[in-house]
Amino acid sequence: MNLPKVLFVGAGPGDPELITLKGLKALQQADLVVYAGSLVNRALLAELKPEAREVDSAPLNLDEIVACMAEAVGEGKTVVRLHTGDPSIYGAIQEQIEALAALGIGAEVIPGVTAACAAAAALGQELTLPEVSQTVVISRREGRTPVPEREQLEHIAALGATLCLYLSVGMMEEVVAELLSAGAYRPETPAAVVSKASWPDEQRIEGTLSNIAAKVQEAGISRQAVILVGEVLNARHQGVNEKSKLYDPNFVHGFRK
Ligand code: SAH
Repeated sequence: MNLPKVLFVGAGPGDPELITLKGLKALQQADLVVYAGSLVNRALLAELKPEAREVDSAPLNLDEIVACMAEAVGEGKTVVRLHTGDPSIYGAIQEQIEALAALGIGAEVIPGVTAACAAAAALGQELTLPEVSQTVVISRREGRTPVPEREQLEHIAALGATLCLYLSVGMMEEVVAELLSAGAYRPETPAAVVSKASWPDEQRIEGTLSNIAAKVQEAGISRQAVILVGEVLNARHQGVNEKSKLYDPNFVHGFRK
């Protein structure tokens, strides 16, 4: 017998068309949708069946969220837990999955477009350029949620890779100071901040580590933004010197002999 389960669905970054087809189908079939009201675009709730119940998880604690979902599962209902972006990134899903498992309830995760990808799309920017950076780091500055010592921004910065910082735009001055402290990024290193990527009021701020904090403050952005840092961001202004091998006419690969 299949375990009854909760579907954890990635809503995407905001634009309701950026949910996956599978996520949309789950929403359309749901009897109960528990959604993160602070970030999920409510326009997605228009997809629910008229009789479906919607619960904003913002005012609820973990036990209340789990109890609400478990009760509905127990009644044989289809339950969707709707998270912003992709559920696996700062989604706090593990504790929910564990608590449900303790009640004999399974979980299935349907991925979504995470904010870093939406921010890159907003800029029309590839994050991995040959000879520039082939590594993307998703991280955050320590806030109320602690970050392990080896992952403090000073350490992360030493890589000099393309960096996507979540949950950190309210601490721009500190972010910049810590990124510069390792020496791999310089004051001239390009940086961008995309706020509300894919929403109608999306804002894109571009600069360098030396001026991005001031620009962000001037624009009045204090939340719901991704900070992108790295030399790849210069490509749109300076062009790409090193083309990718993938489309190189002399490069043979599995699909083009
Ligand atoms: N699971 C989400 C992240 C949740 S944490 C995801 O995969 O995107 C919340 C943080 O995500 C915000 O502080 C911000 O840094 C980022 N974020 C979420 N939606 C965003 C958007 N539309 N534009 C820019 N940043 C966003």
